[in-house]
Amino acid sequence: MIYAYDTEFLEDGHTIDLISIGIVAENGREYYAVNADADWDRIRKHEWLMRNVVPHLPITGRKWLDDYLKHPPRQYQSPADNPVGPDLHDTRVKPKWVIANEIREFLLGSDPEQVPHVELWADYGAYDHVALAQLYGRMIDLPEGMPMFTRDLQQELAHRPDAAVPDQRDGVHDALADARHVMDCLRHLGAAGGAA
Ligand SMILES: [Mg+2]
Repeated sequence: MIYAYDTEFLEDGHTIDLISIGIVAENGREYYAVNADADWDRIRKHEWLMRNVVPHLPITGRKWLDDYLKHPPRQYQSPADNPVGPDLHDTRVKPKWVIANEIREFLLGSDPEQVPHVELWADYGAYDHVALAQLYGRMIDLPEGMPMFTRDLQQELAHRPDAAVPDQRDGVHDALADARHVMDCLRHLGAAGGAA
């Protein structure tokens, strides 16, 4: 089974911390979760994330964020004590260990005797692969059957310079919308079949 996925993350040149993940299967099944354990003290102070990623998430402090977004970029520094945070009443917001278990079951099923073949795809996916793999800890802790690499839409396009893929119309930096777009592109390229 082919899966396209995308993550949003907080990275600082040293670490890549998962904020949200969206996964779309070739047969149309979808998974989405937001990491309740993300470091919101740092996300709140990160202007690019606050402007581009956080608006797509289930959050508290929506009114404050809407007002913040009316200010032009770089002219208004987000105060560190702003009220934006993950909405823990939203069922998509989950602790990291729950996300890890759910994704393992979503991709690999629950029968260790019948682990399916899984093919992962992402767009500029190097960081996404690390964010996904580190749900399980170290590289050697990756669950049996979980691919140790992610195929990259960009590599496919580099090999096929005449190939065209659609533009993403909306939801850029919403992990599930981004994952759906990757699957759309794979279908255009014939690398994935149509949804069941
Ligand atoms: Mg994205």
